[in-house]
Amino acid sequence: MLYDSLARDHINESSETAKRRRQERIIGTLSYEADLSAQLSKYANMCMLCNVFGRLDDPHPLHSCPTLRKDIPPYDYKAFFSWQKEIRYNPKIHPPVCFLCHLPQGEKDRLHPAFTGKREDCPYPDLIGPAVYAIMSHPDLKEEAVSEFPGLNVSSPSKTITWLIGAPMKGHISNLISLFLWYARRN
Ligand SMILES: [Zn+2]
Ligand SMILES: [Zn+2]
Repeated sequence: MLYDSLARDHINESSETAKRRRQERIIGTLSYEADLSAQLSKYANMCMLCNVFGRLDDPHPLHSCPTLRKDIPPYDYKAFFSWQKEIRYNPKIHPPVCFLCHLPQGEKDRLHPAFTGKREDCPYPDLIGPAVYAIMSHPDLKEEAVSEFPGLNVSSPSKTITWLIGAPMKGHISNLISLFLWYARRN
């Protein structure tokens, strides 16, 4: 009898705790996604490579970005695309994300409409990737990022990618997005 009631109390308590934790997780996810959306909307239609390097320029496509040509070795826009191609997610540790913008759909498609693979259906095709590439190429910012994220290794672009697509920090979609949020929240 006693065992029964104790067990029942225990079950009730743990299901209440589980319910509360689940609610906290949902609230946490929603506020995280709301913050991420707000940060992304600040940069709509901006060139993030220029933004990170403090250059105020009219909007331009990546292949004619002056920052890629003047400030980021090897001064060739193709290097950015090769780097971005190496960013591949692991379905065991990452949610499904859009290959153009790195965003998942989020709760009720709050972050991204259904994936079609078309640029016109992607809200921010050239935002997070270029921002992170520019941060990793900026002499001061990359050092600041290393002190913020101890696992990040900026000694070579491939070592950077290992961390960017490695196991995400708790509560984050990916380390790539953590790095973008770190930059966006201070600007
Ligand atoms: Zn630019
Ligand atoms: Zn997208």
